[in-house]
Amino acid sequence: MLRSETARRDGDIRLSFEFFPPKNPEMETHLWETVEELKKWNPDFVSVTYGAGGSTKAPTLDAVRRMIGDSHLPTAAHLTCVDASRDDVHQVVEEFRNAGVRHFVALRGDPSTGIGTAYKPHPEGYENAAALVKGLREIGDFEVSVSAYPEKHPESASEAVDIDMLKRKADNGATRALTQFFFDNDVFERYMERVTAAGITIPVVPGIMPIQNLTQLKRFAGRCGTSVPGFLDERFAGYDDDLEGRARVAAEVAAEQIADLQRRGVSEFHLYTMNRAPLVDAVLENLGLERLRRSAA
Ligand code: FAD
Repeated sequence: MLRSETARRDGDIRLSFEFFPPKNPEMETHLWETVEELKKWNPDFVSVTYGAGGSTKAPTLDAVRRMIGDSHLPTAAHLTCVDASRDDVHQVVEEFRNAGVRHFVALRGDPSTGIGTAYKPHPEGYENAAALVKGLREIGDFEVSVSAYPEKHPESASEAVDIDMLKRKADNGATRALTQFFFDNDVFERYMERVTAAGITIPVVPGIMPIQNLTQLKRFAGRCGTSVPGFLDERFAGYDDDLEGRARVAAEVAAEQIADLQRRGVSEFHLYTMNRAPLVDAVLENLGLERLRRSAA
C-alpha cells in the first residue's frame, strides 16, 4: 500500500488522482506511463472513470485490474447506474470485486442521449446515486465515494435540492464526496458552510482541474455548471501560441488554488489528471511537495 508515513508528512496533504480508461493502444501506453510517473506522489488512492450505461466497462475493468495488480495502487472504480438494471449493476460490481476493488465512486451518470436531456431511471434500476450507494453498501463492505457540486449540478432545481441529495448519499453510507472541479475557492467555502449546516459530516474533497487548455476548458466547464472566473483569462492572456508558458501558468494557477485551500484548512485533494503527468507533476512541485518528501525521508 502506498499510504505511507511519508505521504502524511507532506505538509499533511492527501492526494487522489483520477484517470479515464484508454480508448486505443496508444492511449493505453500513455496511461501506464502517466500512472507510473504519478505513483511517486504516494496518492491515497487513484480512480478510473466509467462510461455511463457501461460504455467503458471492459477498459475500465482492465485499467482497474492493472492499477491494483501491477501498479499496486489503492484503486476506486467509478460506477454509474444510468441505463442499467439493478442486476446489471450487481454483475458489474462482482466483476470489479473479483478484480480486487474495495472502493467505488458511485454515480448516477448522464443519459446516453447526452448531458442536458432529461434523466429517466431504468425501470428496474437504481433511481439515483443515493439509491446506488445504499445498494452497494448492502452488497459489500465497500468504501463508497460520491460526487458533490459546489456550484450546483446543472439539472438541479436549487442549491438546497443539491445539498439534500448529498445528505441522502451520506446517510445511505457514502464515506467521502469528491467535488466537481471549480476555480473560485470562495464558492467552495460557502458550499462547505451549507454542507456543514445540513449536518453532512463525510469529508468533501475538492476536485482540482489543472487547465491544459483554457478554451477547451471553458466549453467543458459550461456543460458541468462550473464558472470560469475572469482572472483566468488574464493569467492565460498572451500564451495562446506559447505551450511552455501556458503550462507554466497552468501549474502556477492550480498550485495557488491548492495552497489557498490549504490555508483555509483543506488537506485532501482529488486531481483530475486527464491522463497526463507533466502538468500534475508541475503543480505538485510548485507546492514544494518534492522538497518536503525529500526532507521527510
Ligand atoms: P446525483 O448525485 O444522483 O445527482 C446530482 C444532482 O442532480 C443532485 O444534486 C440532484 O439534485 C440533481 N438531480 C439528480 N437527478 C435529477 C433529476 N432526475 N431531475 C432533477 N435533478 C436531478 N460520469 C460518468 O459517466 N462516469 C464517471 O466516471 C463520472 N465520474 C464523476 C466523478 C466526479 C467526482 C463527479 C463530480 C462527476 C462524475 N461524473 C461521471 C459525472 C456525473 O455522472 C454527472 O454529473 C451526472 O449528471 C450526475 O451523476 P451524480 O452521481 O452526480 O448524480
